Amino acid sequence: MTTLVENFPGFPEGIQGPELIDNMRKQAERFGAESMTGHAVSVDLSQKSADGKPKPIEVNLGRETLLTRALIIASGASARWLGLPSEKALIGHGVSSCATCDGFFFSGKEIAVIGGGDSAMEEALFLTRFATKVTIIHRRNEFRASKIMLDRARQNDKISFLTDTIVDEVHDVNHKEVTGLRLRNVKTGEQWDFPTSAMFLGIGHTPNADFVGQQLDRDSEGYLIARDGHVCTRAPGVFVSGDVSDRRYRQAITAAGTGCMAALEVEKYLEEIGK
Ligand code: NAP
Repeated sequence: MTTLVENFPGFPEGIQGPELIDNMRKQAERFGAESMTGHAVSVDLSQKSADGKPKPIEVNLGRETLLTRALIIASGASARWLGLPSEKALIGHGVSSCATCDGFFFSGKEIAVIGGGDSAMEEALFLTRFATKVTIIHRRNEFRASKIMLDRARQNDKISFLTDTIVDEVHDVNHKEVTGLRLRNVKTGEQWDFPTSAMFLGIGHTPNADFVGQQLDRDSEGYLIARDGHVCTRAPGVFVSGDVSDRRYRQAITAAGTGCMAALEVEKYLEEIGK
């Protein structure tokens, strides 16, 4: 879902996210990898049937079940929402979590971006291509964003900041389009209506690990925890890589690195079990 990836080594001019992924897929296919698409509904990592006999890992894809000796879970993390009913009602009508996908629709308009991390800065900077004005609305007056990203946003004439401010409601559900936000200053309690044509969320992510349930160790936010601090889990033959198990770095290059580590562990594991 990202546009220009500027921090993946080997691409001095940067590379578009989808192009990087497509290149990776083609490269893997050159070495015999096969790919298919499907939505993992659940997994059975027990590797034992009811009578105690060994069985493969099962990945339930709804219409079919995939059997495998080894599994790398690299299902990433999904954008978070504020959880307001009015926000939900206006998703796709001015509320979005993907500047890359929806920014263009707000050409010549004013846009609000929620959040104070790198995602919010990145979205705001990207949206200045289309918007006349972008306002970053953040619930504190300190920012998690890296200095370079924050500076870049601060130096952009089209971007302004509203801090210590939260969104209480998104208008206008009745007209099925975003016309403004009901904002509140968390320090003074003051509320006011802020006109805008769109609200983009940049408030972090939730790991995509529901299909795993409690079969693997998870932290308080649901991220999968690797056993040895790397990529192994408590289930034999099951490894984790990327954002689904990384709440700290969450970068394309760290995800690629742990993906490589997981692949090496799979190779070692299959040798060990004689497969
Ligand atoms: P993040 O660093 O966790 O920041 C999330 C922001 O959203 C925080 O400012 C947080 O406020 C705010 N927030 C969370 N829940 C909220 C809520 N319910 N209401 C209002 N505000 C809320 O997440 P991120 O920005 O997605 O970044 C994640 C990681 O990816 C970071 O390591 C980042 O460096 C990396 N990243 C890098 C780039 C890049 O280098 N180009 C781009 C994007 C992401 P508080 O600060 O008050 O908690």
